[in-house]
Amino acid sequence: MTIEQERARGWSDATRLVRYDACPGDAYRPTATPLYQTATFAPDDLVADESDSGIGDAPLGPYDYSRSGNPTRSVLESRLADLERGARGFAFASGMAAIAACLRFLRAGDRLLVGDDLYGGTYRWLAHAVAPVGVEVVRVDTRDLDAVRRAAAAPGATTRAIWVETPSNPRQESTDLAAVAEIAHGCGARLYVDNTMLSPILQRPLDLGADVVVHSATKWLGGHGDLTAGAVIVRDAALADEIAFTQNAEGTALAPFEAWLLLRGLKTLGLRVERQQSTANLVTDFLRGHPAVVEVFRAGQGDVRSRAIHERQTRGAGAVLAFRTGCARTSEAWVAACRLFATTVSFGSLHSTISIPGRMSHASIPEAERERHGVPPDLVRLSIGIEEPDDVVADLQQAFAAAARDVAMTRAGRA
Ligand SMILES: *Cc1c(COP(=O)(O)O)cnc(C)c1O
Repeated sequence: MTIEQERARGWSDATRLVRYDACPGDAYRPTATPLYQTATFAPDDLVADESDSGIGDAPLGPYDYSRSGNPTRSVLESRLADLERGARGFAFASGMAAIAACLRFLRAGDRLLVGDDLYGGTYRWLAHAVAPVGVEVVRVDTRDLDAVRRAAAAPGATTRAIWVETPSNPRQESTDLAAVAEIAHGCGARLYVDNTMLSPILQRPLDLGADVVVHSATKWLGGHGDLTAGAVIVRDAALADEIAFTQNAEGTALAPFEAWLLLRGLKTLGLRVERQQSTANLVTDFLRGHPAVVEVFRAGQGDVRSRAIHERQTRGAGAVLAFRTGCARTSEAWVAACRLFATTVSFGSLHSTISIPGRMSHASIPEAERERHGVPPDLVRLSIGIEEPDDVVADLQQAFAAAARDVAMTRAGRA
């Protein structure tokens, strides 16, 4: 079954996630995709010359060398394309490898506009690897369309790409993707969207006008906290060739075993997101009602404009949220007192996790920048898992009580 045939059936994501051709062309018709744990393939009619292998020319058969293509990875890549409704999908060794492959086309003198509330690793890579070679990397609040327009049209370099994360991390603020796509295309630039935070179950940027979607598949798509992977999904074939070239030439594709694990994880994406989001709704209500919490951040819950954008372009708020206690010491004591929540970076896994972004995922952003862009030291980020909802809320509740005791004792000790 081709992607076109599958689409023609009109099945929704929940069905498409589990019902597809698991191994096109396999004589045994396996119902789960086999793991092709092999570096090379030996076609019948030709003896592959290893010096010819994987330089981006047409492969000898459908497959010749796993850097260039592997059947397990191919099935995964077609699932990724299907989920995001793109022309083609690509699987990479990590989200960062996917991001780097996307922006490899930029040259000295080009301008790249990026959101000012970016994932820390993206920020670090742009600041230390992209800007130093002469690409003008301009940070802009992508929620402010006039600011985006001004930055895109500013004299000097030519704007070639706009890079957006929405909702942003950790503040969960929404950018109007259709409007930014229009600005990008108006000046001949492409719109890239890092869709890691919501997953294609809740938001499909290509439908809204984006040219390329990127994921850290380490998060929702994998969902089990047992692999790192990245995904790129493109709207059209010309872009597909560019990404395919880079993936093969630089050797950053996802390895077969990880591709197999990711395929397995993907099958439950719809179920996981649904359950985790509904528990996150309970947690949001709990935090909003707690006296020790001064501010809660959840997608679609900001100002009226931001709510309207969220309602228009997504099907839910996901399961990542953040809050502040107003005191870094209290936040740290609270995180330490959580028992069910594992203190780790990352999000989107089956189990609930907790982090202090200013100390962990966003530590690579200089402190002054962090404060300016809303990552204060007391900000705590939660990613809600599939555990029993009552257990999740009870754990948060007991942690507030423990943190209050801890802070009171420290103060008494100092006095
Ligand atoms: C984690 C993350 C990345 C980087 O992905 P890795 O798989 O860790 O390389 C990129 N963007 C966002 C939004 C992320 O959360």
